[in-house]
Amino acid sequence: MRAVMLEEFQEPLEVQDVERPEPESHGVVAKVDGCGVCRSDWHCWQGDWEWFGYRPDPPHILGHEPCGTVVKVGEDVETVSEGEHIAIPFNFACGKCELCRNGHENICENHIGLGFMNEAPGAFAEEVHIPNADINAVPLPDEIDPDTAAGIGCRFMTSYHGMAHRGDVGRGEDVVVHGLGGIGLSAVHIANALGANVIGVDLFDEKLEKAENLGAITTVNAAEVDDPAKEVRDLTDGGADCSVDALGIATTCRNAVDSLGKGGRHVQIGLTTSEEEGEVSLPTDEFVAKEIDFRGSLGLQPSRYPEMLDMIKTGKINPKELVSETISLDEVPDTLAAMSDYDTMGIPVCSEF
Ligand SMILES: [Zn+2]
Ligand SMILES: [Zn+2]
Repeated sequence: MRAVMLEEFQEPLEVQDVERPEPESHGVVAKVDGCGVCRSDWHCWQGDWEWFGYRPDPPHILGHEPCGTVVKVGEDVETVSEGEHIAIPFNFACGKCELCRNGHENICENHIGLGFMNEAPGAFAEEVHIPNADINAVPLPDEIDPDTAAGIGCRFMTSYHGMAHRGDVGRGEDVVVHGLGGIGLSAVHIANALGANVIGVDLFDEKLEKAENLGAITTVNAAEVDDPAKEVRDLTDGGADCSVDALGIATTCRNAVDSLGKGGRHVQIGLTTSEEEGEVSLPTDEFVAKEIDFRGSLGLQPSRYPEMLDMIKTGKINPKELVSETISLDEVPDTLAAMSDYDTMGIPVCSEF
């Protein structure tokens, strides 16, 4: 089958012919119907995330935002059958550890990152293997077509968890989202649907415009003001209730925290880059004085997909609105290369293999 292969970090990616996966006894193989193209693929290609354990040994197939149709089923799998349409979370869980048993499968002790770790070759490929499929293959309702499902990927579902669960957003609260890539725009759309007043912050006017189309009540162009955090505090009468760093660079993280009012909650969704190497300096005394919470957010538990899928079914949220373009497998390398200049918008989806 054809797959996008990382042969060497930072060197041009290639589409190659590789062997089709066979299911392990607990796994299934899915034909990939769609797979989002994400900045996280770009980071993995650059070899950025060693400190997070997301640095596979090449050669390795990239891609971590698939939905698919089950084509092969391992002998011990009980709840997934051939022909079933499934969403595939990137953060595979074991289903057995204490965190999994208590509804925190997204931070499973034995977490395997699809497309990011040797154990899980990625989904820019005709077929992908899903281990522990009884946990990690999430059945899609018939009402959700493959195009919509392809937009759920990691950014939409990650933002859902960040806003609905970790940010506990709603009730007319002020929410500010710093960095309007795929995660940030998804966070704007979802926080708006949850009842928040959302402010979007970015450097690019077209991303700010898209945020307004997705429900932001206003936006701030950080390139045009001295202190974007102060702009947000002024717009919200003293500071936002919840802030999001959806990019993961020191500036957006700091600006997000500085945007908060007293009692505010910061949600960190973006992982940092090779500049920060996982560490950002923050105003800790402000955390004390304002009783600010700093909350990390990773993926979404498979067990909590149904609530997000219900909101999609009822039309309250629509991942398709985030899908900026559909591309073929052959176009994935160039689309990822364009991310070096932040020259992508929303969520490109690979849907032709
Ligand atoms: Zn586990
Ligand atoms: Zn992603």
